[in-house]
Amino acid sequence: MSIVVNNITKEFGNFVALRDVSLEIPSGGLMALLGPSGSGKTTLLRIIAGLEVPNAGSIVIDGEDISTQSARDRSVGFVFQHYALFKHMSVFENVAFGLRVRPRTTRPAKSEIQDRVMTLLKLVQLEHMAHRYPSQLSGGQRQRVALSRALAVEPKVLLLDEPFGALDAKVRKELRRWLRRLHDELHVTSVFVTHDQEEALEVADQIVVMSQGRIEQVGSPEEVYHHPATPFVYHFLGDVNLFHVRYEDGAMVVTEHNGHSGNGHAKDAGVGFVRPHGFEITRLAESDKAIPARIVHINAAGPYVKLELAGEQGGLFQVSVTQETYKGLALKRSDDVFVTPREVRVFEHDYAI
Ligand code: ADP
Ligand code: MG
Repeated sequence: MSIVVNNITKEFGNFVALRDVSLEIPSGGLMALLGPSGSGKTTLLRIIAGLEVPNAGSIVIDGEDISTQSARDRSVGFVFQHYALFKHMSVFENVAFGLRVRPRTTRPAKSEIQDRVMTLLKLVQLEHMAHRYPSQLSGGQRQRVALSRALAVEPKVLLLDEPFGALDAKVRKELRRWLRRLHDELHVTSVFVTHDQEEALEVADQIVVMSQGRIEQVGSPEEVYHHPATPFVYHFLGDVNLFHVRYEDGAMVVTEHNGHSGNGHAKDAGVGFVRPHGFEITRLAESDKAIPARIVHINAAGPYVKLELAGEQGGLFQVSVTQETYKGLALKRSDDVFVTPREVRVFEHDYAI
């Protein structure tokens, strides 16, 4: 069941929460809406669900324009950040609820409800907790119940709004992998809202990066991370270092950026973006592209060593190197070194960071 979002605009009073947003979510896909708080993710999800009415635009699910249908008729499963389980019902009854409240004509037989609920609880590995109450579950388990409940009514699409947002980091990571596996098994077209870039990169097939009610980029995790379409996406998807870039006789010259924009470097071709792993680090200047810097901080705990370097103009760079390079060069705090940007992405106009 594909979802097509056509030219959606949503205003709250004078405030424009979504501006002419268009998007296609393929059938069976798992799409992440990624963006900072206030970028319009929840609003878009609520419009798809029919919980909010747009000022303009339409929503098409599985080829049918459902814009005028009520939320009830859209057959959408919704999971929110805050567990909305019924406290006085067991896990089993929570999952069965959506089926039990159906009118008699479409309500499955008791035995079928029993089977369907138990199948879902097995899928989320909670079959042994069917008789417990929500207060007897951990946060991660409650969200798994919330998901089973959303899936019990066999929705055409599943919408998840920061479903793991209230959980601690370790549980979040487990649930991400677990959601991925569940999706691989069920293939329900799903839209997953998060402000956590790592979560989006790990879970989704496709990522929609949003900012201020607009879509900045749509692409696979690799595309948005390695080929960001805009400076915003570059910043949002990871640490980044900025440099001035100009061209001399056709050759790119990269120099230190003092972190301010619009500072009168009229000759500059633009701003060069370099990820922390996009540098060569050396003891000696091996070419005229090498930029001198001093090591001000080292964090060697992890698969990579994170270095913070201060340039001669006062700019700070975040550089990550392998443990081998770190040991090979015997780097220490206060050492003077040279960094050579290897992977520079240039955006033409200087802009504020
Ligand atoms: P996100 O989920 O990306 O954090 P939202 O979609 O919740 O963002 O909100 C986008 C913007 O719209 C925010 O600035 C928010 O304050 C505003 N907004 C959302 N819902 C309402 C509402 N019911 N009334 C007024 N403003 C709203
Ligand atoms: Mg939100």
